[in-house]
This record gives sequence, structure tokens and C-alpha cells, in this order.
Amino acid sequence: MTSFADLGLRPELLKAVEEQGYTSPTPIQVQAIPLVLAGRDVMGGAQTGTGKTAGFTLPLLQRLAQHANTSVSPARHPVRALILAPTRELAAQVEESVRGYGKYIPLRSTQIFGGVPMDPQIEALRRGVEILVATPGRLLDHVQQRTLNLGQVEIFVLDEADRMLDMGFIPDVKRIVALLTSRKQNLLFSATLTDEIRILAKSFLRDPIAVQVAPKHATADLVAHVVHPVTRERKRELLVHLVKTRGVKQVLVFVATRIGANRLAYQLNREGVHATAIHGDRSQVERMQALEEFKAGKVGVLVATDVAARGLDIEELPHVVNFDLPNSPDDYVHRIGRTGRAGSAGTAISLVCPEEQERLAEIEKTIRIRIPREVVTGFGHRSEAPLMEPPRRENRRGADHDRLTQSRRREHPPKPAPVGAKPGPAATKPAQGADPIFSRPYEPGATPVPVAAPAKPSAPQKRERQVAALLGGFVRKPG
Ligand code: AMP
Repeated sequence: MTSFADLGLRPELLKAVEEQGYTSPTPIQVQAIPLVLAGRDVMGGAQTGTGKTAGFTLPLLQRLAQHANTSVSPARHPVRALILAPTRELAAQVEESVRGYGKYIPLRSTQIFGGVPMDPQIEALRRGVEILVATPGRLLDHVQQRTLNLGQVEIFVLDEADRMLDMGFIPDVKRIVALLTSRKQNLLFSATLTDEIRILAKSFLRDPIAVQVAPKHATADLVAHVVHPVTRERKRELLVHLVKTRGVKQVLVFVATRIGANRLAYQLNREGVHATAIHGDRSQVERMQALEEFKAGKVGVLVATDVAARGLDIEELPHVVNFDLPNSPDDYVHRIGRTGRAGSAGTAISLVCPEEQERLAEIEKTIRIRIPREVVTGFGHRSEAPLMEPPRRENRRGADHDRLTQSRRREHPPKPAPVGAKPGPAATKPAQGADPIFSRPYEPGATPVPVAAPAKPSAPQKRERQVAALLGGFVRKPG
């Protein structure tokens, strides 16, 4: 088996990697690291959770190590690498990785994203940084205010290119690429390498080598899926029951709307289950705090919307609960990707009411799994019979309609409700929150064009039933 040392990484990086507790490189790292070290442009097909960040960060640090210095002069620390990420959470995580992996090499890094004051960012830029991790909008703000010079950037990384496309950031990305006049190496990473992504890659990568690892859901063989039929009204009660009686220690609960997220967290707390919500209406500080509390085990339940959960560095969760089934099977796949990673088993629990039956059928069709139904004693209901039926034939029109609806909602987000607001009909609608917390395209009027990646069928799951295996700790690898 290939080791990190075999990949030609220098001792400072090997030491940092060892401290992270990594024993061997992941497939994307084995493929990408030597290519990046050799100075090649790379187009990487890899999702979050595959180890792609280290895949580009480690060789990037190595290539820049020749410039490392401890001088206090800002002139000795020009921006030499620019990493663009679609969301602030992702930018923060990537920069954290840069710092972690680069702790024994005197290179400076900082993160730049919107929604927080510019002054501290300006100050960090003024002092000088070699590695800049940024979201596109705020980066362009700095360029416009002349608080940032990108004239010496040698390495450019576009991370999560498909999300960039989804969020309408490509015009900004192109504008930024045009500013990188001295770039020598370009890397692009995307969960899927669709035609659109390849066209984008062609526009700025030079003679790239494509590397790809299996999509996450194909590797999530360790995920056990289960559906608990329940009426909509009793979902919360059932969730509390599962948490309290089955020893669910650390669980990420997905809901359809941020109003629903707030309300559910509030109600869970009232019932003695320590929960917090993470969604676009919360400030960056609040979101980071919620995430930290969850990671530290202070909060057992993190309630999230799909949009807010993207890019969150939460790994190896023993449980993911679909409180509301997602609109699109792709989102289901994203959600379950949060569990059963890196060899640890996980359970994806869906609380499904009769109204969600069609969505369940769509999901089963896509993931090619007939998810076992398990009625939790005391929570059965008379109308659960349809849920016991095998999945219906796929209805593509329905899926497309859902995606379209999502994209419209993204443009017209629902109004937030105060915490503890009375349940209203909006809470039960499968609207995707249009989290304004995420950076918007720099130019107003650039309407995001959502591009839904075609849902890929996964390999049949090995273990279908693992319902009772709800016990288990929350292990998170550092980094
Ligand atoms: P990423 O796909 O870059 O978001 O990484 C997903 C998670 O995998 C992160 O929490 C990393 O710390 C972890 N990770 C990255 N490389 C390795 C490795 N070689 N061995 C174990 N875990 C890793």
C-alpha cells in the first residue's frame, strides 16, 4: 500500500500528517499529490469526505515551501496560492487544513469571506500571506478596494467547482482567473465532472490530467438505511424517543426549512434533548459556535437544512436523520454521505410520513436500494400501508419539477420565523432555504443557474438492516 512518504512529501509535511492521525493516503491523495508536486494542472473528481483537501493542500505547501520565510516584511509574503471555495464554512475548513498541514513550514495563510467585517481581513492581507483561501464575492471586494494584490499568484485552486456553478459564481471565478496573470498551475476539484465542469476546466486549466475517485455514495457501503413510518405530527416525538431510548449520541438531523430547523431545535430542547440549529439566518459566529458545540459533544443534536450543511466539516457521524425527506434524491445522497465514512458504520434514519411516499420512491429508485421499513412500537399508524409498498417507477418530471422549485425558492427565500414560532403550513413544505449567508455572486443580477448533477446509482448496499446499531460514539479525526 502506498504511504505518504512514498508520495514524495517532505518531512515537515509527513510529520504534520502523522499528527493528524492519518495512516495512509486516500485514493484521491495517491493520485493527485504526485501530479500536483510535478507541477501539472489537475482536474479532480472527488467529493468532500474523500480527503481531497489534503490531496491538493499538501503538494501545494510543498511547492511553496521554497518561499517560506519568517521575515516580518509584508513584501516577503505575497499571495502565491489562491484557493477559491463556494461557502464560508468550506473556506474556513480549507484554511484550517492549510494551517494544520503546514504547521512546520513558515508559510502564512488566511481566510476571506463575506458576512464578516473586512477590516481584520485587510489587516491580515496587509501583513502578507502566501496562501489565501476565499469565497469569490468577498475576494472581488478586496480587489476592488485595492486591499489585495493577486499579481504573484502561482497556484490557483478552484474547489467544489460544481457548487460554484450551482451558486452562480462562475462569472466571478472567471473574473478572478483573469486577474491571475502569473499563475503557473491550476487545480480544479468537483464532486462530479459533468460536461459543464469540463468546459469550465478547459477555459483555464492547461493540459490537465483528470483524476477521479468513486462518488461518495458508492463508497458509503457501510451506511445502513432505515425508514420509520410515522405521521407528520408525531415525527418530533419519535425523534425524541429514538434519541432517548436508543442511545443516539451525536446526530445530524435534516429538515426542509430553516423555520423548521429553528422550531425543531427549540422543541427538542424543551423536551430535554440538547439541540441546536444551523442555517442561513444565524450569524457566522453563531453557526461556528453551534458547530463547535456539536463537534465537542456538548450538543447531541444538530438540526440543519441541506444548504447550511453543505461544506460542514462533520465526519464519521454514527447517525443522520432525515426528519423531512429531501426533495431530490441527490440531496439524500449528500445527506447520507455524512455518515459511514472512513470505515466506520453509520445509520441513515428517515422519518417518513405518508405524504412523503413519492419522494421516498424516487430516492429508492436512485440509490437502488429498497430501504427497510421498521415501525417503531407505539408510532405505527393506519395509513402506513403505502409506505410498505415497493418503490414506484421513477417519475423524472417530478424530480425536475422539484429541482426547478428549489431553484425558484433559492431566489425567493421564505421569511424567517422567530424561534418557537407556532407551527404553520410553511414548515411542512419542502422548501429549500435560500441561505443568504452564502456569498452572492459579485455582480448583482447574475442569477444563479442551478445545475443538478444527474443522480448516479450507487452500488447495492452490503448491509441493509442495522437498525439496532444505534449505539456508538462520535469520532472525528482532527483536521
Ligand atoms: P475532505 O474530503 O478533504 O473534506 O476530507 C475529509 C476528512 O478526511 C477530513 O476530516 C480529513 O481530516 C480526513 N482525511 C483526509 N485525509 C485523510 C487520510 N489520509 N486518512 C484519514 N483521514 C483523512
